[in-house]
Amino acid sequence: MRKSKRNFNKWFTVRVATDIMVMLAFLLAIVAATLVATGPGRRSATYDNFETTVSVQAGDTLARLLSAQGITNSDIHQIAALLRSNHRIRSIRAGSDQLIFVRVAEEAPVHKIILAPSPFRQIQITHTDGAWTTQMVEMERDIRIVRKSGEIRHGDSFYVAGTRAGIPPGILADMFDLLAFEIDFERDVRAGQQFSVMYEEHFIEGERVRNGPVVKISFHARRGHVRMYRFRSPDGKVGYYDENGDGAVKTLKRTPINNARVTSSFGNRRHPVLGFTRAHRGVDFRAAHGTPIPAAGAGTVIVRRFCPSYGNFVRIRHGNGFETLYAHMSRFAPGVNVGTHVRQGQIIGFVGSTGVSTGPHLHYEIIRNGVHVNPMTVKLPAIENLSPANKKIFAEIRDKIDASYEVLSRHPDMFIQL
Ligand SMILES: [Zn+2]
Repeated sequence: MRKSKRNFNKWFTVRVATDIMVMLAFLLAIVAATLVATGPGRRSATYDNFETTVSVQAGDTLARLLSAQGITNSDIHQIAALLRSNHRIRSIRAGSDQLIFVRVAEEAPVHKIILAPSPFRQIQITHTDGAWTTQMVEMERDIRIVRKSGEIRHGDSFYVAGTRAGIPPGILADMFDLLAFEIDFERDVRAGQQFSVMYEEHFIEGERVRNGPVVKISFHARRGHVRMYRFRSPDGKVGYYDENGDGAVKTLKRTPINNARVTSSFGNRRHPVLGFTRAHRGVDFRAAHGTPIPAAGAGTVIVRRFCPSYGNFVRIRHGNGFETLYAHMSRFAPGVNVGTHVRQGQIIGFVGSTGVSTGPHLHYEIIRNGVHVNPMTVKLPAIENLSPANKKIFAEIRDKIDASYEVLSRHPDMFIQL
């Protein structure tokens, strides 16, 4: 990859505040998009230098690759020592690293070596005045925000609908993790519902290198229109917040196991084993035997034992008067004992069918101040809320994001730069 200066990194900056700028930006974006699609080859040869690009293969060593380019042993030692001391690079990695050898003429000795350990930085090793020097160069990142939207159809899971909408798997997984704090995917998701996401795409020299974080999520669920925004507060803390600036990440998860099907919900029901009607004090999730069970939130394990009805079960005490309980486990996770402090998402045990149970499932309860509550509807406390001052700043950012979101909804193939 050659690092010539290309200015389409700086095509435009959208100032969402003014419509004229937005319109202008989109005209430019259209021009830019056309340039990308039809412009001159992105890997065109340089005219003042001869470059040889070598992708590191399994079994390659730096010494062997340098030697193959005619670099002397003493130079190889010098270069290896510089990489070690200045950049803590001791070896090259097959499959990901690339080396570019630069000469002034085809037969000339190598005077510059570029090692690209990541798309975002490269190390330039240059020979001047009889000695080698190295320099780390951060590549200029071009961040574009794109919007994808879709609709739930009959028989769809959110994953199916999201994939059809062209949302990349990693972004879809992040959406699921965030939405799971708010939405019961079993009961809140119905055909006809619209959803959309805005996320970053990171480009270097016009090439997409990877996807960045989710910027906004919108989901028209049954319980209402769920919106989440990414926000970096002035102290550098990054989080997700709802439209009011309240933390979107909650202390507890409604569904500890992602994508598990609810087979029995909270409330009165006829017990499948005992045969009589009694209150179901939790929610049952169907999952395969042995599926790991993550803690719904951070807390301290207060019970971990067997009992005839719950089988192997764990009870965790969280902050704010909340406790959670996980029953019918096949076994406990190693290291999880009474008194163990667990993180949100830490595996505490595995799905089974111990105790009074008809088949492998997780029975999950949330207890608030000693009272069983419905995990699917209880209002859960946010892990973190914004200070009043930061809420004000958040509101401005949210409005900018919303304005971009509107513009992108009318131009789905465009992108913006905030
Ligand atoms: Zn149950």
